[in-house]
Amino acid sequence: MTERIFKGIAVSPGSVIGKAFIFDSEEDVVIEREIADGQIPVEIARFEDALIATRREIIQIQDKITEAMGAKHAEIFNAHLLVLEDRALIEDVIEKLEQEKKNIEWVFSQVARKYAKIFSRVEDEYLKERAADVKDVTRRILHTLLGKKRQDIAELKEEVVIVAYDLSPSDTALMHKEKVIGFASDVGGKTSHTAILARSIGNPGVVGLHDASKRIKSGQTVIVDGNRGIVIVSPSGKTLEKYQKEQRKLLVFEEKLSELKDLPAETIDGYRVVIAANIELPEDVPVALAHGAQGIGLYRTEFFYMNRTGLPTEEEHYKAYREVAEGIHPHPVTIRTFDLGGDKFVSHLDVPREMNPFLGWRAIRFCLERVDIFKVQLRAILRASALGNVKVMFPMISGVEELKAAIGVLNEAKRELRKENVPFDRDIQVGAMIEIPSAALTADILAKEVDFFSIGTNDLIQYSLAVDRVNEKIAYLYEPRHPAVLRLIRDIIEAAHSNGIWVAMCGEMASEPSLTLILLGLALDEFSVSAVAIPEIKKVVRSVTLQEARTLAREVMSMEAIGPIRRKTAQLVRKAVPELIRLKGQE
Ligand code: PEP
Ligand code: MG
Repeated sequence: MTERIFKGIAVSPGSVIGKAFIFDSEEDVVIEREIADGQIPVEIARFEDALIATRREIIQIQDKITEAMGAKHAEIFNAHLLVLEDRALIEDVIEKLEQEKKNIEWVFSQVARKYAKIFSRVEDEYLKERAADVKDVTRRILHTLLGKKRQDIAELKEEVVIVAYDLSPSDTALMHKEKVIGFASDVGGKTSHTAILARSIGNPGVVGLHDASKRIKSGQTVIVDGNRGIVIVSPSGKTLEKYQKEQRKLLVFEEKLSELKDLPAETIDGYRVVIAANIELPEDVPVALAHGAQGIGLYRTEFFYMNRTGLPTEEEHYKAYREVAEGIHPHPVTIRTFDLGGDKFVSHLDVPREMNPFLGWRAIRFCLERVDIFKVQLRAILRASALGNVKVMFPMISGVEELKAAIGVLNEAKRELRKENVPFDRDIQVGAMIEIPSAALTADILAKEVDFFSIGTNDLIQYSLAVDRVNEKIAYLYEPRHPAVLRLIRDIIEAAHSNGIWVAMCGEMASEPSLTLILLGLALDEFSVSAVAIPEIKKVVRSVTLQEARTLAREVMSMEAIGPIRRKTAQLVRKAVPELIRLKGQE
């Protein structure tokens, strides 16, 4: 086998060598074929066998998931088992088979498609929830009929590199505890939630590889180089040696970085900032602490709503939030109210698919209409705040009315709890995420309503530059160094400070060591980053004086184009921490 290189977009740093595992997520191609009358009973028998085999398969998965992650995660498959027993579906298939005399795979795929369509169109919420289950199960049945084996991520037995057409955030969430050491996908962008999750797990990743999932075979040796944005298939001895050597050097560098764990994020001349971590699940807290996080600056709560059949109860929310608050205490945690929509969907919430989901009915827009669902979460956050280290913030604020409305619901929840004599922190800090240009441009107005801002650059960049954050075709335009983005950030920080409030940044831009110095120079108060990035960011902060950072920020703010800004920032980081550029490909 000769070595082949696929070029994509680097989304999660580091490199890994492992066996490829093709996680197939594209639609199946089913061939239509006429059958003879005599063949009908044979096809029916094949169908029945497939139903039995699928049932067995689902029960096995359920057992494994229960063992690995607890019964809660396994519950979702109960609904799948029900679909398998659905008489109407089974009878429909048999009837169509007898009438049309076509191969069972074809007949079944047609009926399954019809069912999924009907379920997704009906008004009844419960039935609508079933659409995703029907799709999932029918896909399994079809795979059994086609003799295709689609392994589940949760089922993997050995360490693998996942290669997929695409991975949903919920697929990626299942990777958390599994044997996935790296990932590569045909589509996606740097700030897609799949990429963010992969980074938080610490897995190297490359996306935007076009048709790699079709051209790489399961079991082939691959190198995922998340620094250079390439995937190498069947690497030569020489390439392997090069990567192994680089990995050893990186290990030494990371060991050196880990010595900084308990030191403050302080410039040479003693100016301190806070470096906190972004998390998705309570079990991420120990990882954050191990990397020296001084708090959780962004707890994305929407993953709590995924990989399950119904909505989480107030008690479930509370348990998770209390666990995080206790785990990180005495440091603070900023809980972001749930932000579903965009590239994060759940089948059981009644959010229709939209033409422009990133501009659609998501996050706070959804919450303000479904106050019933929103309030359950707010009550739980408030209850967890009794410990004294919880802050709350709202995503996707577009203007002051929306912000006031969200605070209004929070106040209602507070009133309820007061009436019920339930303790909570009466001085809980409330923040607004600034991730829409309209919010950035009215930051001086919004600042009067809250205690802090958190700049969500993942969205702020996509909205201000009109670049879909998950579209690999235009990923080259997605640029935090664009003068428009830098000006917005400068103005947000200035508006906040002149109104006496502090500012964090929790978008991925804060995790890029090459941008740390500009942000430091612009007087950002808190960097909330993926846990694995904390030591690097701290190292950069500790390698310069505040004066140097301010001078760089001033110079960069007067530059007109991205290229020179990139060169300028890289030059200073190269001087401050040369290993970052050499080993991690940061520039
Ligand atoms: C952001 O937009 O920068 C952000 C932190 O939120 P999310 O990535 O979850 O949209
Ligand atoms: Mg966002």
